[in-house]
Amino acid sequence: VTGRRRGTGVLPRTVATDVARVVRIGVLALQGDVLEHVRALEQVGADVVAVRTTAQLAAVDAIVLPGGESTAISKALERGGLAGPLRARLGDGMPALGTCAGLILLSDELVGDEELARPGGLAVRTLRNAYGSQVASFDTTLDVHGLEGAPMSASFIRAPRIEAVLSDDVQVLAEVAGYPVVVAQGGLLAMSFHPEITGDVRLHRRFVDTVRAYVGR
Ligand code: GLN
Repeated sequence: VTGRRRGTGVLPRTVATDVARVVRIGVLALQGDVLEHVRALEQVGADVVAVRTTAQLAAVDAIVLPGGESTAISKALERGGLAGPLRARLGDGMPALGTCAGLILLSDELVGDEELARPGGLAVRTLRNAYGSQVASFDTTLDVHGLEGAPMSASFIRAPRIEAVLSDDVQVLAEVAGYPVVVAQGGLLAMSFHPEITGDVRLHRRFVDTVRAYVGR
């Protein structure tokens, strides 16, 4: 132990932070249920940052695209200059978790909504609002491949439906009525429903494990 000498303070502090740090996950905080994701990720031990700027985006290991309104998030991404940088990071292989509206933004194909500007990257064809109006939204329980314990309860709120998987790289982890509702592709994990609002953090834990594997921590 050398103690702290003048001019060397920065180095030990940086080292200590890196050792303590698990993975830093950004939650895109333009619209939607940001806080619920922040809480779920903190619960599974991630270092969480709300992402509203390109500088914040550049500082994270992975990103969560929350549930909300995909059209609003899309517009805010374009307006704030984040659309290009987000697409670039995803193109470089940054892991991402997309729930509901987040799934829509990650979808390579959108039935009837092709004009919706989005990063894409997930080889699925998705139909927005397929699970009906606010009133027709529903809760169910489902078995998710690879998750231990009881079936997961899932809330579908004007949820998108994955109509088709477009590549063998996409793994279907859960289905409802024959349609995929949880899918994974490399570092991408996406679902039609909102695991962030039910207090079940198993999918967030799975995502953080994936991110850890990706960044080698
Ligand atoms: N209906 C919303 C959309 O199209 C998604 C709903 C949600 O995220 N709960 O963006």
